[in-house]
Amino acid sequence: MSAPSDGKDSSSTLKMLVGGLSLTTVGLLISTIVLATNKDSGAIGTQADVGALPVEVIPAPGSTYLDQGLVDCMSITLSLDAIVSHITDGEISTAIVTTNLEVGYDDLREQYATTNLEGSEFETSPPTIVEALSEADVQATVIFAAQCDYKVTTRSGGHSYIGMSSCNNNCIQLDVGRMNHIDVKESGKQLNVGPGVRLEELVQTFVTEGVFIPTGECKSIGIGGHTQTGGFGPWGRSFGYFTGYVDSFRIVLPDGSIRSVEKPGRKPLTSQPNNDLFYAVLGGASGSFGTVVDTVFNTNKDDDFHAFYWEVNFWYDSEKTLPGITKMLEKYAGMVESGELDQDDTRWNIWWTLVGSKSLLAKTGLLPPFNFFQMDFIWVVPKKETSNADAFADAQAVYDDIVGACDDCVLLDDFF
Ligand SMILES: Cc1cc2nc3c(=O)[nH]c(=O)nc-3n(C[C@H](O)[C@H](O)[C@H](O)COP(=O)(O)OP(=O)(O)OC[C@H]3O[C@@H](n4cnc5c(N)ncnc54)[C@H](O)[C@@H]3O)c2cc1C
Repeated sequence: MSAPSDGKDSSSTLKMLVGGLSLTTVGLLISTIVLATNKDSGAIGTQADVGALPVEVIPAPGSTYLDQGLVDCMSITLSLDAIVSHITDGEISTAIVTTNLEVGYDDLREQYATTNLEGSEFETSPPTIVEALSEADVQATVIFAAQCDYKVTTRSGGHSYIGMSSCNNNCIQLDVGRMNHIDVKESGKQLNVGPGVRLEELVQTFVTEGVFIPTGECKSIGIGGHTQTGGFGPWGRSFGYFTGYVDSFRIVLPDGSIRSVEKPGRKPLTSQPNNDLFYAVLGGASGSFGTVVDTVFNTNKDDDFHAFYWEVNFWYDSEKTLPGITKMLEKYAGMVESGELDQDDTRWNIWWTLVGSKSLLAKTGLLPPFNFFQMDFIWVVPKKETSNADAFADAQAVYDDIVGACDDCVLLDDFF
């Protein structure tokens, strides 16, 4: 991050911030950042009328089409090969199948959160994990599962806190983590993103392309799940949720068919089934309606915005710092209540975090257990509305008012 008060734009800072890559700086720091927006739209795949459904539909050689002879329930690998060959007219499956008896299985079944803790009620051990590399692999997996009576659970980044991307008993975990393409659409304003892309990789593309979408903070989150669970982050007041930037997606349904689903409102492409599927998939019940294999995002453009970012970390000590933090929060609440900080003003974003003492060093006794209280303050203004200097002055006045109330607080930097 840059030094305080230089009042200059620095687009790379926000891009780093977006991916949660640089939320480490401690103390009263200020950085400047630049953003921008574009709400252009586009479609994926070719469009064809299928009955009343004006979206692309590739019929699955599934239950109603499939030659039953292609499915051998005793051999998933042979079956995937046969089904993919049937779908693609000759190609063989690229999927990697790992069963719970094979070397490497334990690493592969690992979920990011607590779901694999041995003995935990959340422990999950899917008997078979299929890593898909293509849409055809995904189609073949769900067709095989339907024919052979397995449930399917899709995993992209594996960051579900409650283990919803893994499973037990009669199921196949369909891992799309290797479907991790990022393509810049010709307009330069949209990105085609595979479900296996992690936030960190997406943010690197933002840096290269000079674009930006608000995201959550953890850099290893998968796009497949994040798109379906909101994608809430520190700059949400200014820019909304990650999900709000979805323009269209491509999904393999449980019967193995593929749909291209457009954001509703684009006449004449929109239809009731299209709209229902769009809102169902992005409606908070991730993984329930099919496996998303590609998503097109609209992006913001860096150069359209002035943006400023402060991060401050207070050593959290109940005797010394708590009264100061309480005063700061009371000041903030008072400013909102009195209208001094207008709730409809989307320039300001404040993100409070109490960071717990799960540090390894604290656990080993090398350091005392510690907590710190973090405030991220982000101020964003379209460049066409004001000058950089005026935007910075407005931002600093609000920041100083709030943080100034924490007069005798100890900074984390000063503690260590
Ligand atoms: C450390 C950490 C920090 C986080 N920080 C934030 C944050 O700042 N903001 C925020 O909004 N969220 C945050 N989250 C939550 C995270 O965004 C969600 O859990 C998200 O769903 C994870 O996506 P994933 O692909 O990694 O997860 P997965 O576990 O792979 O999947 C999550 C769910 O989506 C389904 N799913 C995954 N991929 C697909 C697909 N391709 N098609 C259909 N369904 C699919 C799964 O079946 C499952 O139900 C955080 C999570 C963790 C663990």
